[in-house]
Amino acid sequence: MHLQTLAVHSGVDKDTAYNSVITPIYQTSTFRFEDIGKTKGYDYTRTANPTRKALEENIAALEGGTAAKATATGMAAVMTALHFLKSGDHIVCTNDCYGGTERLLRTYTELFNFQVTYVNMTDLDAVRSAIRPNTKGVWIETPSNPLLSIIDIKALTEIAHSTNALSFVDNTFLSPYYQRPFELGADVIIHSTTKYLNGHSDVVGGAIVVNKPELVDRVQTLVNALGVGASPFDCWLVLRGIKTLIPRMKMHEENAGAVAKFLSQHKNVKKVFYPGLPSHPGHELAKRQQRGFGGMVSFEIKGELKEANSVIRSTKIFALAESLGGIESLICHPQTMTHASMFPELREKAGINERIIRLSVGIEDVNDLIEDLDQALELIHS
Ligand SMILES: *Cc1c(COP(=O)(O)O)cnc(C)c1O
Repeated sequence: MHLQTLAVHSGVDKDTAYNSVITPIYQTSTFRFEDIGKTKGYDYTRTANPTRKALEENIAALEGGTAAKATATGMAAVMTALHFLKSGDHIVCTNDCYGGTERLLRTYTELFNFQVTYVNMTDLDAVRSAIRPNTKGVWIETPSNPLLSIIDIKALTEIAHSTNALSFVDNTFLSPYYQRPFELGADVIIHSTTKYLNGHSDVVGGAIVVNKPELVDRVQTLVNALGVGASPFDCWLVLRGIKTLIPRMKMHEENAGAVAKFLSQHKNVKKVFYPGLPSHPGHELAKRQQRGFGGMVSFEIKGELKEANSVIRSTKIFALAESLGGIESLICHPQTMTHASMFPELREKAGINERIIRLSVGIEDVNDLIEDLDQALELIHS
């Protein structure tokens, strides 16, 4: 079946109690046993819950994985994935990864003696020379946040496998509609479902997807042991959101493309970061590796922090907020917001300076979005 059909139906229409068309919310912590040792498949919601199961089947189907686990947040999924590794293991990580991922890796370096090397993953030789005998994980995020660099999942996965390391792909920015990491060799996919999968800015959630039989039991055991499973109600909302994933993604992309084009022609904009622009260094790779370019656009303003602040304060439709991937447009200043927790030296090295502004382009009418940005950019010098 095609992705849009899977999005609408996978895991959903399974209610044998009353034949409800939509998955019920099993808002219960526990389940009655039919007899000693005999259940209907569920005993306790931390371990498993039918509403969560429906969402997990849906996400697994969209990514083409064997199993998925829905977690309370995206970071809970990141944390669970890191538990595939053990104390003393070495991880090669993209140098402009999500700020929270960098913070957790730093914590695990202190707590569990993880070793982490951050590299610019657009440079495959740099990745190869970062590999050590104890490298057990390669952490990939593409397009990256906030600069939308594109890294080659297939090439990186081959490097990971040549040294018996797992390749992890955080697929939050594109969703399974625009990028299918398992088809490129990835071992583990991570999502913050808070973003495009739910798409309506009313849930925090995450997912971890695997496609290797030996990882299926492991991920189930970890989610149960760590207690990071998502609540039934949140799962129900995400499942509801996913049904419109594809039409939303198409509109996000159409709007983002028009916004990127507008910005790249504006006199007060120094540089636009959007993989759909032919001038983007990752454009050709993005065309090959992705089905589309997504809804995130970043740009560097001409001037300094003062000018960036002026634009951020002046938009009326774009709301100043963290997060992304919802139907409404958001504007953010990565240096002081999403990437504030990042080690400053690493942030500088990754090119995240004070003049960078990140947009999550929503599905409003694009003419209104462009007009909003235009008036904010015009105010810079007044
Ligand atoms: C938001 C985000 C996360 C973390 O997800 P939460 O739901 O906020 O915990 C991880 N990776 C990426 C790329 C994100 O955008």
